[in-house]
Amino acid sequence: MSPTRRDFLRVSTVSGIATTVLGFDLTPAYAQAQALKISRTTETRSTCPYCSVSCGVIIYTIGDKAKNVTPQVVHVEGDPDHPINRGTLCPKGSSLMQDILNDRRLLKPQVRRPASDHWEDISWDQAIDEIAHWTKKSRDDGFVEKDSQGRTVNRCESIAWTGGCTDTNEFNYLVVKTMRSLGVCYLENQARV
Ligand code: SF4
Repeated sequence: MSPTRRDFLRVSTVSGIATTVLGFDLTPAYAQAQALKISRTTETRSTCPYCSVSCGVIIYTIGDKAKNVTPQVVHVEGDPDHPINRGTLCPKGSSLMQDILNDRRLLKPQVRRPASDHWEDISWDQAIDEIAHWTKKSRDDGFVEKDSQGRTVNRCESIAWTGGCTDTNEFNYLVVKTMRSLGVCYLENQARV
């Protein structure tokens, strides 16, 4: 990857100080340290999930993909090829690695039952079954065939859908098709891309 303007300024500053004060040039050592950090990593392009700007990020993961190796994210930075942010990230996006490597991150579906005071883990199969069950029930219970003046409307007012900034155009296309087929009229998406 080619160095960014920020990298250039940082290397120039550190190198300049070392050359002036200590009499030797740190540029090669600094460049090698940067290269070592992401050497042998896999690059994955993704989207910052924090806000509707939807900046592009590159996630660097170490691990040779063998079955007995747990992949480890070692670095996250802005994607210089992304048309929205062109490599930049705000402070929140710059801390994205702390979101990925966080022991409080939810990795399983959870449900909080009526009158319960806690969330319980459930399997993905159970979550899908329950979502299907409650979607059907909510739609059947709240479906409106005719409005107050007798006009046919066929709409479902008991379900709403909101999407996130990491949803792709293709995903959103399918969401709209699915929700409209159920008669859902309350559709929104956080992203403005
Ligand atoms: S990097 Fe900042 S501005 Fe960009 S999507 Fe993330 S939170 Fe929003």
